[in-house]
Amino acid sequence: MNFVTGLKCVFCGTVYSTRVAYTCPRCGIAGILDVEFDYAAIGRRLTRRRLAGRAEQSHWRYRELLPIGADAALPALSVGWTPLTPAAALARHLGVRTLFLKDDGRNATGSLKDRASSVGVVKAREKRRKIIACASTGNAASSCAGMAASMGMRSAIFVPERAPEPKVTQLLIFGATVFRVRGSYEQAFQLCQQACERWGWYNRNSGINPYLVEGKKTVGLEIGEQLGWQPPDWVAVSVGDGCTIAGVWKAFREMKTLGLTERTPRMLGVQAEGAAPITTAFRTGEAMRPIEPHTLADSIAVGVPRNWQKAVLAVAESGGAMINVSDEEILEAMRYTGRLTGIFAEPAAATAVAGLRRALAEGTVGRRASVVAVITGNGLKDVQSARSAVTQPFDITPDGDGLADILRGQELIT
Ligand SMILES: [Zn+2]
Repeated sequence: MNFVTGLKCVFCGTVYSTRVAYTCPRCGIAGILDVEFDYAAIGRRLTRRRLAGRAEQSHWRYRELLPIGADAALPALSVGWTPLTPAAALARHLGVRTLFLKDDGRNATGSLKDRASSVGVVKAREKRRKIIACASTGNAASSCAGMAASMGMRSAIFVPERAPEPKVTQLLIFGATVFRVRGSYEQAFQLCQQACERWGWYNRNSGINPYLVEGKKTVGLEIGEQLGWQPPDWVAVSVGDGCTIAGVWKAFREMKTLGLTERTPRMLGVQAEGAAPITTAFRTGEAMRPIEPHTLADSIAVGVPRNWQKAVLAVAESGGAMINVSDEEILEAMRYTGRLTGIFAEPAAATAVAGLRRALAEGTVGRRASVVAVITGNGLKDVQSARSAVTQPFDITPDGDGLADILRGQELIT
């Protein structure tokens, strides 16, 4: 049994039973459903003390807040409970009092998406499906393939043409059947959707599957618990589809509802300038207008974000802000984040840090604030982009000719 009471459409407000599989029958594909829980019952079990006593070093330690049965079969691959790393040097560089990085690149397949995919494969098994499918720009795909492999399931993955090679290789290694669609992410999404309907595969697309965002919210629950239930002033998250920031916000709302925390942080949503339809919707108050995305941060290059409404509501409800950054600012953030923390963030992950820098400069976030930036994916997944952010190594001969000159130039010796 679990604590889910129903699925509520974010557009029309109708509440359905969990027999509804993906989106609102009345609103169609736009009718994203939100999972509702019996918080009174959860609150009796999930106390600070009980949690402190749990040995589980994974996101399953919050299983009452996940839409899975108590005896559900779980993937063996480790998910969540990633480090929350203090980043004092980076904080000084940006000019903010306190900064932590939530290093989700440390998940099993290297990104935050493992949180969603792990719930996806559990739900697929529950519904007795043997194949799980997903359309993704990369990270959702590789995590879906990895979690499927861990559960002994097959996966069918649709990637857009421009998906970075390392990410495609990663999912081939996990034994996925990979379709590289000659077209955009949106077209890959549509094709995956049709294939799922036709062959009865379980659809892991977070744009329509209501359960995945519940997996994503555990990153927020962990931030809360790792900070001793004292939330920061701000949480910076990069935004593509919009469901990650919506998930993080849901976590903080739930912690307050359950009495685990007394207050909630403000959400700072960061988009790349060339793919910012959610920032536009947030600022204008109008419905999201699809765009053609142009950014090197492939994980957030989403032109038709399905969860835009959830994201806008989350940021607004938190009293937060949306901000855009350029690709140059993203590359720069990859560089100084790596240099000052030892954490290699992929472009979409560094976007959160770049956004924080801009928000500080513009005065949106105050200098005395405490901030957590979510590093959503590991930089090793997209070395091509990283290379354009850095300089070349020094080529020298084995006899070390010219070594001293270079060292002086680098101020490594005087
Ligand atoms: Zn509806």
